Amino acid sequence: MAQKDYYEVLGVSENATPDQIKKAYRKLAKKYHPDANPGNKAAEEKFKEVSEAHEILANPEKKRQYDQLRQMGKGGFAGAGGFEDMFRGRTGRGRTFTFEDLGGLGDLGDLFSSFFDLGERTRRQRWGPQKGADAYAEIEIPFDQAISGGKTIVEIGKEETCPVCGGSGAKPGSKLSTCPDCGGTGMLSFSQGAFAVQRPCPRCYGRGKIITTPCPQCEGRGQTFGRKKISINIPAGINDEAKLRLRGQGQPGTAGGPAGDLIVKVKIAEHRFFERKGSDIYCRVPINVAQAILGSKIRVRTIDGKVDLKIPPGTQSGTKFRLRGRGVKLDGTRGDQYVEVIVEVPKNIDENQKKLIEEFAKKAGLKH
Ligand SMILES: [Zn+2]
Ligand SMILES: [Zn+2]
Repeated sequence: MAQKDYYEVLGVSENATPDQIKKAYRKLAKKYHPDANPGNKAAEEKFKEVSEAHEILANPEKKRQYDQLRQMGKGGFAGAGGFEDMFRGRTGRGRTFTFEDLGGLGDLGDLFSSFFDLGERTRRQRWGPQKGADAYAEIEIPFDQAISGGKTIVEIGKEETCPVCGGSGAKPGSKLSTCPDCGGTGMLSFSQGAFAVQRPCPRCYGRGKIITTPCPQCEGRGQTFGRKKISINIPAGINDEAKLRLRGQGQPGTAGGPAGDLIVKVKIAEHRFFERKGSDIYCRVPINVAQAILGSKIRVRTIDGKVDLKIPPGTQSGTKFRLRGRGVKLDGTRGDQYVEVIVEVPKNIDENQKKLIEEFAKKAGLKH
């Protein structure tokens, strides 16, 4: 097939599960993400390629069509000339057309069904509006923000309707001309056995018109790849790796279809003192030997400020104390904070102190 193999792009086998596809995509998207590779054109290209592969393979309907097409490409149909000729047709600009030119695989698959179904049965729906693909992003928010919630900004790479041509792909002010191949009908007829068959014209993609001067901004694609900042609302108490879905913030639809959704995975940054598990918070606090033996009252940091914690005499290192209701508020209830105390043994003592400890050991009957 003339096109890139999407399975190869993601480095997965054709039997990969949706989960494996998702994982492979995440890994590569992260690696080639423009944020991680500023100014690196090759990485940017790779990122687009990976996103495109994911867009197709993560969508069951598009994947089904793609798989069909791929099988045909492999099965020798291409060798017969028909496949390649049909899909490597030339646009008005002498360019090989690709999946994107056809407005996504939906149309390409449909081109096929019209070819093989020998009819017009589904023609109406096949050229109709298509919903845009979902976009994915991952952000890391500070520990405190995960607890309190609030607004944050996500920057994503995203296809946008080209601002210069408004999505038509034609240079503003330039004229569209009638497609010479189909005479403007958008369909071509040919005979197959006893049947007269019609299929969408590959030169104009069934539109009947061709662009004479492509838009300089998007090179005739009608869409441009850009960065977009989106403000999102983090709900208070959000869990690590939670996913937020923002309706209509994904890739734009085609032919007037609605945009896909943006799915944001939220990671919570580590805190140097607190650790969170669900709605509970864990921390470790050092105490000295005297506090452990004699008991004490210490001040412990919580997410609401410092509170007193009573250490009873004879407290062992590793003992956990619970501060009820000092955890994270989640679904209307608050978790607890667990404080693990670590008894610190002094490393350097002077001769006088040593004598006192020896005396203590002797009175307590401790061997040393
Ligand atoms: Zn444009
Ligand atoms: Zn045409």
